[in-house]
Amino acid sequence: MNQQWMQLANDIKALYGKDFVPLHEPTFDEKEIEYVTDCIKTGWVSSVGEYVTRFEQELAKFVGVKRAVAVVNGTAALHIALKVAGVEANDEVIMPSLTFIATANAVSYLGAIPHFVDVSYDTLGVDPTKLEQYLKSVGAVRNNQLFNKNTGRRIRAVVPMHTFGHPVDLDGIVEICDKFNLILVEDAAESLGSYYKGKHTGTFGKISAISFNGNKIITTGGGGAIVTDDDLLADYAKHLTTTAKIPHRWAYEHDEIGYNYRMPNINAALGCAQIEKMPHFIKQKKVLTEKYIQLVSRMKGVRLIVEPENTTSNYWLQTLILGDNSDKDKVLEILNEHGVMSRPIWTPMHLLKMYQHCPKSDLSNTEHLEQRIINIPSTPLKEVY
Ligand SMILES: *Cc1c(COP(=O)(O)O)cnc(C)c1O
Repeated sequence: MNQQWMQLANDIKALYGKDFVPLHEPTFDEKEIEYVTDCIKTGWVSSVGEYVTRFEQELAKFVGVKRAVAVVNGTAALHIALKVAGVEANDEVIMPSLTFIATANAVSYLGAIPHFVDVSYDTLGVDPTKLEQYLKSVGAVRNNQLFNKNTGRRIRAVVPMHTFGHPVDLDGIVEICDKFNLILVEDAAESLGSYYKGKHTGTFGKISAISFNGNKIITTGGGGAIVTDDDLLADYAKHLTTTAKIPHRWAYEHDEIGYNYRMPNINAALGCAQIEKMPHFIKQKKVLTEKYIQLVSRMKGVRLIVEPENTTSNYWLQTLILGDNSDKDKVLEILNEHGVMSRPIWTPMHLLKMYQHCPKSDLSNTEHLEQRIINIPSTPLKEVY
């Protein structure tokens, strides 16, 4: 048993030609240096400059939406996306328990309450069949709005998350949102370059959030973006994330409590170089997936997650599901000790002390997967350079 994991560690090190392989590293070349240097030379490194607009336009084009608003990080993007979409204090927001903490925190910043639901084994994201049954049992419709019968609070929105880049069953989720009059806000933080039935993730709801943190498929150092087809929402998001200042040549007039969430120009310069490489990254992620399929097929009691049916995944983080008799901690120990950085999936939100009292459905799939999922190195292979 241990033997095959040491073998995998050696195979991964050989694949990357390194003694230590990080989980996910940024990939830079001369382009990043060129744009960032240019940005520094202009002096416009901070809250004003042309790279922000350019990055927003290129991102919107890549995703296939009308508008993108660049912000300081993905959490801030989610916070403002939820706010402009109409989530209010005391609303409940449906989300997977199996997610990164940012999803739940962004909801909390608005004084709203995360309401955790289960995921499917196929997508690792919200399971629409289970969700519909659950909403029928826990929900009551009044005035065309859904309320939680147990808490009396309004259930306002659904925030599916495309885990490790694998799209959730969006047709199913969209149908539920229509049926129960819920706002759909996608947490597409991990899924830039992932498509559901040929359409980019983050374009199925009212508005979505993307992250460009250092470990994501492309990075701006730290950064995020709100994407939407709704001009009014985009304008409002831009206004709120730039301190709600009324445009004027010199006067400081602000018309509500805004946020200093704007992405600095120097980060956007990095982003402009990175987004040009998206097609290359996607290609190299596929090359890596093929290699891992081969390596894992020789192993026992472990399975590599591949893109769900009807989707094209960006394969942001490569994911293994261990068999029932595997010892996850032992596997992590062997890989990490042999120079191959590997990590467990996040502790589900409902098990964290801040969120343990939040409303939740049956979470048996979540708890099952949590015990068995690990991520292994996923940086796009360099070969083609
Ligand atoms: C990365 C990530 C975010 C946003 O993270 P930031 O670090 O704030 O950019 C949000 N949700 C998920 C699921 C993520 O993986």
